[in-house]
Formats: sequence, C-alpha cells, structure tokens
Amino acid sequence: MTNLTHSEAKYAIIGAGPCGLAAAKIFLDYNIPFDGYESGPDVGGLWDINNPDSTVYESAHLISSKFTTGYSCFPMPDSMPDYPSHREVWKYFCQFAQHFGLYSHFSFLTRVVRVQPNDEQAQTWQITLQNGETRSYAGVIIASGTFHTPSMPRFEGNFSGEIVHSAAYKSADLFANKRVLVVGAGNSGCDIAVDAVYRAQSVALSMRRGYHFIPKYVFGKPADTLGGLVRLPRPLKQRIDEWILRLFAGDAQRVGFPKPDHKLYELHPVVNSLVIYHAGHGDIAIKPAISRTEGKRVWFSDGSNDEYDLILAATGYQLNYPFIDPKYLCWRGTYPQLFLHIFNPQYRNLFMLGMVEATGLGWQGRYEQAQLVAAYIRAKIQYPDRAQRFDHAISHDQPKLNGGYRYMSLDRMAFYVHKDTYRQTIKAYLDKLL
Ligand SMILES: Cc1cc2nc3c(=O)[nH]c(=O)nc-3n(C[C@H](O)[C@H](O)[C@H](O)COP(=O)(O)OP(=O)(O)OC[C@H]3O[C@@H](n4cnc5c(N)ncnc54)[C@H](O)[C@@H]3O)c2cc1C
Repeated sequence: MTNLTHSEAKYAIIGAGPCGLAAAKIFLDYNIPFDGYESGPDVGGLWDINNPDSTVYESAHLISSKFTTGYSCFPMPDSMPDYPSHREVWKYFCQFAQHFGLYSHFSFLTRVVRVQPNDEQAQTWQITLQNGETRSYAGVIIASGTFHTPSMPRFEGNFSGEIVHSAAYKSADLFANKRVLVVGAGNSGCDIAVDAVYRAQSVALSMRRGYHFIPKYVFGKPADTLGGLVRLPRPLKQRIDEWILRLFAGDAQRVGFPKPDHKLYELHPVVNSLVIYHAGHGDIAIKPAISRTEGKRVWFSDGSNDEYDLILAATGYQLNYPFIDPKYLCWRGTYPQLFLHIFNPQYRNLFMLGMVEATGLGWQGRYEQAQLVAAYIRAKIQYPDRAQRFDHAISHDQPKLNGGYRYMSLDRMAFYVHKDTYRQTIKAYLDKLL
C-alpha cells in the first residue's frame, strides 16, 4: 500500500467522539496521515460527562443495546450490561482509543474555532485553533457531533419559573421538591421524566404528538436484537412489529398518552420501559402541547392548566457548525445537503461524519461512513479512475436512503435514514472504491 505521508496529504479530524475515533482508526489502517482536535479533555465525545459540551446526564444509559451499537472490530465486552451507563460507554471509547493507538494523534482541550479554504478552489484548508494558531490541511473531517446546540422552544406568555434545556440537565437533584413539567417526549424527555418521579413534588410530561414506545426488553432479550432473520416487506414488518409492541408494552393510550399520528418507524421511536409504567401509576401526568404561560401557570391546548416551578425542555438539538461559514457546507433549509450525508458536492476534501440519524445505526454505521471517506481519499491517490467514478456519483447519484418508509417531514427527520438501506448503499459504494 502506498504511504500517503507527504505533508499536503495530511487531514484534520475535528472531534474525538465515536465518529472522530472511527475516522482516526481507519485513517491509521489506510496510512492516511491526520491530526485530531478535541475541545474536551478526553476521547468519547458526549459520552464523556466531564467534557463541558457533553449532553449526557447522570442516569443516561445506552438507548440501543450494546449488541447493535458498538463497533464490529471492537465489540463491547461480555462484562458490560446490555444497556451500559454513560460511564461504561465512555470507558469503552477510552479502551478503543488505547487499543488502536489513537490518543497520540489527538490534541485535547484544543478547540477548532475556524475552518476556511486557503485558496479559491479549496485545494487545502486552514484551520484556526482557539489559541490563534493556524494550520493547513489537505482536507477536513468534521466529526463534531449533532447533539450540542439546544433547540429551545418559545412559550407564549411570561413563565416565571425556571426553564432548563435537557442539554444542561445532569442530575435529578435539580427537581428536588419542585413541580416539574417536562416538555417533549423523545428518548431524553422520557428518561428525564422518569428521573424526576423520584425527586420532584409532581411530574407532568407535555407532548405534541403520540409516539410508539419500544420496551428495552422483548421476549426477555434486548428489543433491537430481535428480528432481521427474515426480511419482511416494509408494510408487513410495520404491522407485525406494532402488534408485538402492543403485546409487550400495552396500549399507551390507556394510561393517557396520545395516539401516534404516524406508523411505527416513520418517526424515531422512544425506547423506554418505565415511562408507561409511571404514567399508569399516576406518577407522571400526560399533557398536550403548551398554549401559553402566565407566572408559574401553564395552559395546555386542551384548556387544562396547572402551576409548575420548572420547565425542562427536552426539545432536541439544532445542527450547528459554528467554526465554518455555512456557505461551505451546502446548507439548504435546516441542514447541509451532502451526498450520503457525508460528501460535499462542492468541496471534495471536506467531509462530514455523524450527521445522520437512524434507528439502530449505532457506531458501526458511523464507522462505515468513515471507511468510505478513507477509501475515497486513498482512491484519489492510488486508483484515480475509481475516485473519478465516485466523484461522478457525488455529483449525479441521488440514492434513496429511506428504505421506502415515509418519514415525517420534521426538521429533526431531515437526515434520517433507514439503517439497512443506508449501510447497504455505503457498502455498495465502498466496494467500488476498494
Ligand atoms: C442522552 C443521549 C443518549 C444517546 N444514546 C444513544 C444510543 O443509545 N445509541 C446511539 O447510537 N446513539 C445515541 N446517542 C447519540 C450520540 O450522538 C451518538 O452515540 C454519538 O455520541 C455521536 O458521535 P459523534 O462523534 O458524532 O458526536 P459526539 O459524541 O457529540 O462527539 C463530538 C466531539 O467533537 C468535539 N468537538 C465539537 N466541536 C469541536 C471543535 N470545534 N473543536 C474540537 N472538538 C470539537 C466534542 O467535544 C465531542 O467530543 C445518544 C445521545 C444522547 C445525547
């Protein structure tokens, strides 16, 4: 294999989370030289709760099971539980980085504050570090994560209690003796509402729509390890899985949850066994959307109202790449429009990792993104004809990545893909580059 160590072939990787680490490991495998930059004190991305930008909370555990989440080349050990805590997950990333010799390739506590092309054609890129230092690279891999910039709702009126976004939530101590309203019933919202049950004076959960709830265990096994042996047509799979879930999780509407306005898998499902349990025990009151507030009183769209001391907004995140001018990222609407959500049609040496969401994609799915990037970079030097064909694909192909599902048209579903379809598509392009 040709060694790509001439200086102009050096790449910058921004972030040492699951995606940045995957890129670093693969770049080493492919002899692609790089420097990694991480603003936090260690590897692990948001799973390192000591990273000031981490958005995990004390009670956070994996939502997907360890069997479907870890990297295939470094499975999570038997000693780990099915759904490890954030601490165990962080340790796993430290071990991954140690095992593959990645630590020495990253500068920690080093934030990249600016990324810009050195010339009009963007043949090379200049990155600026927080201390003002600048460095030039043949290309940049952005792996800075998607769960960092809160999407903060605006409530009509003048709520006089506390409002905290889930990004800043760390521990249920926050709720001690308070009347808590959690807004948003995604995975974090449901986790946090359950946390609050044990500390708060009262807990309510406000949701604009109904969700499909998937219990963590089905037939005594982690839910995401079941199925897949037989590939069912999509509508049949949706019907059968919905039926199995009703069998196991029961009918969430019975305990006050609204009926979902979408079929299973058309919106990211909520994996939580406890929120239905607590709603059924009256520990969590289910409320519709907020219509207005006044002082500590909150009115809901069904006309009901109550007083709260604290609103916990589990209302998700916005994509944000503050270190680069949006014009370099092909933003259209709410997100950058990139080939396979990775490759920039305008700048072929600027790559995005991790800007993808899917049920069950795990870190292996993100690792495969990095593999494709590495294969493309290597092909440019070793197999220019293959790289050229891939370049043509970047400009012309528009592979469908939804597996036939009609995802709800919401901002947060903009870069949602069907896991199997996405991985198969990545593999098909990878095969053409190798
Ligand atoms: C509570 C919670 C639970 C989750 N559960 C699951 C789950 O069960 N399964 C699953 O697959 N996913 C889950 N996720 C999604 C999670 O985003 C991914 O698991 C994974 O962390 C994404 O990896 P990443 O490398 O893209 O981003 P991150 O983990 O966010 O890492 C990005 C890194 O880049 C660094 N960085 C950012 N900007 C800069 C800069 N300018 N300069 C230098 N460094 C920078 C950050 O400090 C960070 O370390 C969960 C997320 C949350 C918040």
